[in-house]
Amino acid sequence: MVLGAGIVGTSIAVHLAKRGLSVALIDRQGAGEGTSYGNAGIIEGNTIFPPAFPSNLVELAQIALKRSPVVNYHTWHLLHIAPWLDAFRIASRPAQLRETARLMRPLFERAVAEHETIAAEAGAEGYFNRRGWLKLYRTDQAFAALAPEFDLAARLGIANVPLDRTGAQKLEPAVTGDFRHAVHWTGAVSVTNPLALTRAYAARCAALGGMLLTGDARSLHRRGPHWRVETGAGPLDAREAVLALGPWAPDVLDPLGIKLPMAVKRGYHCHFRPQESATLSRPVLDAENGYVLAPMEQGIRLTTGVEFAARDAPPTPVQLDRVLPLAQKLFPLGERIEPIPWLGARPCFADSRPVISRAPRHDGLWLAFGHAHWGLTLGPATGRLIAEMVSGATPFCDPAPYNAARFNP
Ligand SMILES: Cc1cc2nc3c(=O)[nH]c(=O)nc-3n(C[C@H](O)[C@H](O)[C@H](O)COP(=O)(O)OP(=O)(O)OC[C@H]3O[C@@H](n4cnc5c(N)ncnc54)[C@H](O)[C@@H]3O)c2cc1C
Repeated sequence: MVLGAGIVGTSIAVHLAKRGLSVALIDRQGAGEGTSYGNAGIIEGNTIFPPAFPSNLVELAQIALKRSPVVNYHTWHLLHIAPWLDAFRIASRPAQLRETARLMRPLFERAVAEHETIAAEAGAEGYFNRRGWLKLYRTDQAFAALAPEFDLAARLGIANVPLDRTGAQKLEPAVTGDFRHAVHWTGAVSVTNPLALTRAYAARCAALGGMLLTGDARSLHRRGPHWRVETGAGPLDAREAVLALGPWAPDVLDPLGIKLPMAVKRGYHCHFRPQESATLSRPVLDAENGYVLAPMEQGIRLTTGVEFAARDAPPTPVQLDRVLPLAQKLFPLGERIEPIPWLGARPCFADSRPVISRAPRHDGLWLAFGHAHWGLTLGPATGRLIAEMVSGATPFCDPAPYNAARFNP
């Protein structure tokens, strides 16, 4: 059984079913309706370095004063996650970032190809936009800071085209505003409807013989040699259970006595119609302001940066208010489509690596969550890795960096 039908769990279920295992994919709602619904849709195989704790004093002061468009926080929550933030700060030192880039590369390297394979089988290639993604930089300083990224990209053969403002506007004529530099990561693929993509992958799982069931993962318990969960179709027993609950993983793990130091970085989105005949061909990041404009079937999706707050705390979409005037200057956004913004929670470990491994102390229990800013990107590669481990095949990469054991839970 795979608990959680986000992009991660659904991709795992497809990979297990492809290996001839009998699979049930279980969620309390429809496939892809959790965090996987609302992302910016970018399959970022190009990612090298994870987002880092700010080292610039001006940026830190802006965040502290709650003026930053990139980061917001609920003050009391910071006390709860102080150890996590400290670990994140330490993991953001240059040597650690280089190490994270090395450890994560095998997953990113496979990201696009693994999506391509499942999407082709699922008939979902129509959701792919292969025009890469464009990152914009307003200052020479921010652009100059990319030197280590360009250096590693050249060594790893990750295609990118640095552009000036004119070059960027040739790609995206409707994009204006006071940016000075841009980078076109040409190999990235984006998705025009992440929900529909996950649903298509779930349908592929069903076509391979997998069962799609409704059920509450919190009912998971041991019953003899099996794991049992209560579903709409009655109790379901399985020898192996994979937990792919994204930000909700602790709801099941805490009662089992498995404590993992995961925090959430919340994020918002809302959709806008473009004004008149303006078009956006690919996702665009305003790097210094942390928001993305992504062309989706629903409209232009504006996604925000990071909010440190409890997963279930009421929404406080102040970042949308902060970035909207900037986004409107960057692209002619028209009418806002839905009045209430969508809120999601990126499940994150401080070392920016997911957990993809056996669970400690519980036979037949597997963990696959904590993909932070890259769950959409890494879902299918994670699916392959878990399926290879569960079925006893040779994993395509060394899974040790993603083992939950690194936290001594
Ligand atoms: C604003 C924003 C922008 C982002 N942009 C990108 C991007 O461009 N590219 C990228 O790669 N990533 C992006 N991400 C991150 C990405 O969306 C997440 O990492 C990813 O969706 C996590 O997938 P998941 O399958 O682990 O979790 P989820 O999609 O949350 O799936 C977990 C599932 O578990 C189910 N569940 C929870 N509790 C229970 C229960 N008790 N019983 C049964 N089922 C349960 C939920 O219903 C849900 O379907 C973004 C995230 C945000 C918030």
